[in-house]
Amino acid sequence: MLYQELAELYSQIEGTTKRLEKTEILSKFLKKLSDEDKDVMYLLIGKIYPEGNEKEIGISTQIALKAISKSNGATDSKVLEMWKKIGDLGKVAEELSKQKKQTTLKLVGKLTIQKVLENLRKLPELQGKGTISLKLLLITELLASASPLEAKYLTRTLIGDLRIGIKSSTIREALASAFFSGDARKQASEKIQNAYDKLSDLAIIFELSKKGIEHLEKVSLKTDKPIKVMLAQKALSIEDGFEKCGEYLAAEYKYDGFRMLINKKNDSVDLYTRRLENVTKQFPDIVEVVKKNIKAKSCIIDSEIIGYNPKTKKYMPFQAISQRIRRKYEIDRLVKELPVEVKAFDIVLCNDEDLINSPFEQRSKLLKKIIKSEKYKITTADQLITNKVSKVREFYEKAIKDNQEGLILKNLNAPYKPGSRVGYMLKLKEELRDFDLVITGAEYGTGKRAGWFSSFILSCMGNKKDEYLEIGKVGTGINEKEDEGKITFKELTKQLKPLIIAEKGTSLQVKPKIIVAVTYQEIQKSTNYSSGYALRFPRVNVLRPDKPLSEITDIKEVEDAYKGQKKK
Ligand code: AMP
Repeated sequence: MLYQELAELYSQIEGTTKRLEKTEILSKFLKKLSDEDKDVMYLLIGKIYPEGNEKEIGISTQIALKAISKSNGATDSKVLEMWKKIGDLGKVAEELSKQKKQTTLKLVGKLTIQKVLENLRKLPELQGKGTISLKLLLITELLASASPLEAKYLTRTLIGDLRIGIKSSTIREALASAFFSGDARKQASEKIQNAYDKLSDLAIIFELSKKGIEHLEKVSLKTDKPIKVMLAQKALSIEDGFEKCGEYLAAEYKYDGFRMLINKKNDSVDLYTRRLENVTKQFPDIVEVVKKNIKAKSCIIDSEIIGYNPKTKKYMPFQAISQRIRRKYEIDRLVKELPVEVKAFDIVLCNDEDLINSPFEQRSKLLKKIIKSEKYKITTADQLITNKVSKVREFYEKAIKDNQEGLILKNLNAPYKPGSRVGYMLKLKEELRDFDLVITGAEYGTGKRAGWFSSFILSCMGNKKDEYLEIGKVGTGINEKEDEGKITFKELTKQLKPLIIAEKGTSLQVKPKIIVAVTYQEIQKSTNYSSGYALRFPRVNVLRPDKPLSEITDIKEVEDAYKGQKKK
């Protein structure tokens, strides 16, 4: 298949904001897609492998910019200037490619999907000296033979910003509409979602959808694929928790750490964050513990990882260990300085048996059976099963005293629903005034902070997909000097630079990617920001590299918090 066909599809999908139309267009395309070209499914969401694979394209805008200038015979400064004006590197590549065509009349339009994937997949393999020039070569080769439309989407794919407004639900609906009709379609849509939540591999889901509903139904969990984790809803009170969970419920400590999925098959262990990022390399200590303390040939375990001070053995808040998720060097030192403990709380597969539909109580019992608890290495979550409000209250207070965030209340009879925010687990925590927000803009600092970004625009999620609403500006909570666990201006600047979309004077707009947990004193109504609200005295608490964009605070939560605050 030619890449031009995919580029035209992207363009059509981008051309409409209507979800139904997007689904229709995609459905037509999928009907014609052959099994041979099934890896196009990854490209549809801007990826080259299924989710959970640690190999990502990872090209900075700077390298992409260089490749664009090289492949079009333009200077870097010209490309930079166009980029600042247009604000979309993809469109810049398209524009330049159009101009080039008139003068050089190269043979374009022959780029195959295979060739594109081949080159893109070589990118994450390159390491060490000379990497950048090799990467440039691979990208320039593609761009030089691309049509203007191809250049646009290739560039956007490279920098991880496809901007066509496609959600996984659109893909699910399109698959259902392409291969099923009538009553079967609605049923298929659900089955496709279930299968995807278990496998996280769109190419396989495409093949199975084509084969028929019974093939989707047969999908079972696999230890070499991460599943999407089940998400928690809020409990308004302990009474509310009982109402939603039933007469008896399980209350567990809500640990202040980060989520980790542990996939084990014999001696092979894979670790994933809730964003399905593979973090096995960063946690050799956990791999060891899993091999030693989990008595099962194969399993998929859901857990929270918490850090403790190696000297005092006191548990520490998430921010202290957050750097362990990202850092890929000096791992041995970090393992010693920032040790972690696994708090296992659920199991969805054990010795090849799929437990997703078994009741939580049963899964939890099994978990306790197969884990050899060892303090500061791995233990199961502290748990209380009760039908009494007063007992839960005592347990909650104990959790807070032990420096944890509160409780998670669980329905004892419920199955595990991957990827869903269903009411089978509810979080009960003190109303801390904090939001998870994404940085969408920045400003250059002056004086001591010259050369760094020193002020950051924060946004929450809007009502529509890809809509981010500004809610304030923050400069506090970030350090000038290195200090373990705290983010510095230098580091944040480094992370944001490759994400710049547009620049005006000293203000910049950046691609929404970096998520920060922000505390604040009060929410006010405001006309200064697009959300209609502003945070008073916001302070960056910690970066949340483990959270996906889809889980940041949305405008509804902001409104609720504003109303709640007025009531008090
Ligand atoms: P939140 O991130 O505020 O939505 O709270 C839900 C998160 O709490 C989960 O995604 C887990 O990462 C975390 N958590 C901590 N302890 C537990 C537990 N015992 N059971 C389930 N989730 C837990």
